[in-house]
Amino acid sequence: MKSKLEAVIFDGDDTLWETMSLYSRAKNEFDALLKSSAFKTDNIIEKLDDLDTEQARKFGISKDRFANSMLILYEQLSKSENIQYSQELASKIQEIGYSVFKKPILFKDSLETLHRLRDSGYKILLLTKGDQEIQRMKTDTLGITGYFDKIYIYPKKRLEEYQEVLSDSKLTPSRTWVVGNSASSDINPATKLGITGILVPKETWKFEEGNLEGKAYVVPSLKDAADIILKNSPSYR
Ligand SMILES: [Mg+2]
Repeated sequence: MKSKLEAVIFDGDDTLWETMSLYSRAKNEFDALLKSSAFKTDNIIEKLDDLDTEQARKFGISKDRFANSMLILYEQLSKSENIQYSQELASKIQEIGYSVFKKPILFKDSLETLHRLRDSGYKILLLTKGDQEIQRMKTDTLGITGYFDKIYIYPKKRLEEYQEVLSDSKLTPSRTWVVGNSASSDINPATKLGITGILVPKETWKFEEGNLEGKAYVVPSLKDAADIILKNSPSYR
């Protein structure tokens, strides 16, 4: 049993719970809605992905971004295809855009992984990027808020945010692990600070794409991540 000297920092979206499938479904619904409303553009989803990534780069992550990207694209296409802008259609689009927050889904090995690590004495932290209210609603809806010693919700995940977590939770980097699905925001900034990274690659959106910059484990599942952590904690190397 450890005495909470060792910690595991988890990412949330597409690490502990699935969001990509919700976004894919919403994009398909948006595409189908526009096509059924006489729009002829055939690469609507691709255009939406580009625009949404651009919006995220410019304005950061916010709960309104995805729905707004859909509305902006709808307005652009109305102009380019010369189709009358309809408030009714815009409301439907908005509803589709916000539907991605309704029902997050836990990955099948998430709870078991959190249990195993917590029962072995690890301090468990959540460091998730996004809107305070939305991210908190996700952990509450999923019933996992109580699993974490502390939850950090930041608009960005850079070196600075990891430094803040390390100092706020009084963690030693060499005794700390990070588990996430994005090389660029979960693993790279953490390994630069001496935290050991485990990448569990899942499908991710364009904004999060990136390559591992330092050394990190890459495993197919959370269960494998927990196996590695339990087998070789950095402090015993
Ligand atoms: Mg993620």
